[in-house]
Amino acid sequence: MKLYSTKNKDNVADLKEAVMKGLPDDNGLYMPFSIPELPQSFIDNLADYSFQEIGITVCKALFGDYIPSADIEQIVNNAIEFSAPVVRLDDQKYILELFHGPSLAFKDFGARFMAQLMGYFNKEESDKLVILVATSGDTGGAVAAGFYQTLGIEVVILYPSGKVSLLQEKQLTTLGHNITALEVDGTFDDCQTLVKKAFLDSELNKSIRLSSANSINIARLIPQSFYYFEAYKQLSKEGNPIVFCVPSGNFGNLTAGLLAQKMGLPIHHFIAATNKNDVVPAYLDSGLYEPRPSERTLSNAMDVGNPSNFARMVDLYRAFGEANSAVLSAWPGMKTAISGFAYDDLETESAVVEVMNKYNYTIDPHGAIGYLALEKYQKENPDTRGIILETAHPSKFLDDMVRILGHDIEVPDRLAVLKDREKVAHSTPNSYDEFRSWLLSNY
Ligand SMILES: *Cc1c(COP(=O)(O)O)cnc(C)c1O
Repeated sequence: MKLYSTKNKDNVADLKEAVMKGLPDDNGLYMPFSIPELPQSFIDNLADYSFQEIGITVCKALFGDYIPSADIEQIVNNAIEFSAPVVRLDDQKYILELFHGPSLAFKDFGARFMAQLMGYFNKEESDKLVILVATSGDTGGAVAAGFYQTLGIEVVILYPSGKVSLLQEKQLTTLGHNITALEVDGTFDDCQTLVKKAFLDSELNKSIRLSSANSINIARLIPQSFYYFEAYKQLSKEGNPIVFCVPSGNFGNLTAGLLAQKMGLPIHHFIAATNKNDVVPAYLDSGLYEPRPSERTLSNAMDVGNPSNFARMVDLYRAFGEANSAVLSAWPGMKTAISGFAYDDLETESAVVEVMNKYNYTIDPHGAIGYLALEKYQKENPDTRGIILETAHPSKFLDDMVRILGHDIEVPDRLAVLKDREKVAHSTPNSYDEFRSWLLSNY
């Protein structure tokens, strides 16, 4: 499996380099040269495959030339440890629940798979690999759980003191073993700056093997394509064409869906649902891509003003060799494949209430935006079956959910037990010198 940078097709890497580096030096994003189509017999007989077998089939098609089959099987079997059930609302609308992992959000799939793949590549090295992550809350929890007890890998998570929720903090600070939390007296941006400085510090990199668990790592995208197949499999073969509605921020989930479609899954259409950070729906309307600073909303995991995976989406639809810019040349293809809709917080809250009243289903604010977008699409396209990706468990947003619904909601045990676990974090000032010497004395 060879990959290239979206900034320059001559900038090539193999899978190991792409996974361990995360980003090419030219700041593009890695994309596979070939996205193979899976055999029709596999698509026709999805029901005969378990979720893990689906993942193994996808991986073998992508990088079976690079990693032996038995190793691929082990990587996928260890990574895909929780289910992705489809729940029916009515004959038109379905929910794909992606929150059955340890941090209760879909990011568990990507983090877990990346940990397995990095652990696999790292087996050949004698030194420990130290992963540095700055988090404003959610990513850190998924990475911590994903890398927990991965052999040969240490994880250091930097988070801003007092600026993450109690439960988010517990997800970072209660695991122990190879997961260490650094509580930084500063903001999320300060944490990110410390991490960036460490990566650029060539002296430090001679002493410690550093890597990142970046959200745009190709290893996070690949497993997110598995659950499109898994969802498709759970719907009856007979019936209206299937569309996927994806609540989106950095558009990793939606891009993974496009990969699944390219691999032969007959997805009829995609719906991109956003909060008022709507640069992609606006682009689908106008052909103009105008990133801007993000604004805070109720569905805060989607507060993104310049989605990182947009470069990959453009890459999938652009016409090469055209005089027009890549972004403009991608527009006709992308707007045919994807419809985009955006909603504000008030509309989101009403949708949470509507889904409860109409279907007795507790949907979180991110999924609620997906619900609204699917409703809108199906007004014009009623003869479709829509699957909404429910990206997180509603109890992750407990205060807002209780306020909106006016009653308590169920909190899964794996979240509830965190409250009573003891927090262990190393407090540090916002100082690169201190961070650097702490790293050197601990790793
Ligand atoms: C990360 C996240 C999103 C956004 O996903 P992208 O792949 O970045 O578009 C949506 N919902 C929740 C709950 C998330 O944590």
